[in-house]
Amino acid sequence: MSESGVDRKALWVVRELGLPAIVKPCVSCRSTRHRPTDKFRVNASGKLLDVWMLISCEGCGRTSKIPIHERIHVQALAHERLLMFERNDPAMVRRLLVEEPFAFRLDWSGTWVLETDMPFYQFDGDAVPLEVLVRFELPVPVRVERLVMAGFGLSRAVVRGMVADGRVRLPVAVDAKVHEDFGFFVG
Ligand SMILES: [Zn+2]
Repeated sequence: MSESGVDRKALWVVRELGLPAIVKPCVSCRSTRHRPTDKFRVNASGKLLDVWMLISCEGCGRTSKIPIHERIHVQALAHERLLMFERNDPAMVRRLLVEEPFAFRLDWSGTWVLETDMPFYQFDGDAVPLEVLVRFELPVPVRVERLVMAGFGLSRAVVRGMVADGRVRLPVAVDAKVHEDFGFFVG
């Protein structure tokens, strides 16, 4: 027996397909989705710095800029961080979009896919207890019921019924959003 007392374990992985889009209306077309260009612009005025991220409209390609730091004192910005902006480091783009609080709304559609290491699992009433570990490659906010539906190939109604009668035990409410690793039990 394992520590949790459940012999069967499955690992599901929220695989990253790409970074989220930045939601901002384009001034040239009707698109609201923008992509990072992996470029920054740093402007110094005395001891104050402005840092922008350059983004590109998905519809027409028009480039615009969004503020990352405005009128920040040069000593308030870590040197390593400033260098990353000046070098247009893609790691900084990723950090800004998915690791730090971001001032613009993000569109996560198309950024992930759920991979399971097991085929469709039949719920026949006497199923062996199962522990599912869900690991996130990308901190995409997703409703936990959507993961369970995708992982088992079940409808929302069936998943909610299984949570209601205790066959699926989740660490959070069935309609809550998760964005980091968690586990749940079936059986
Ligand atoms: Zn556009």
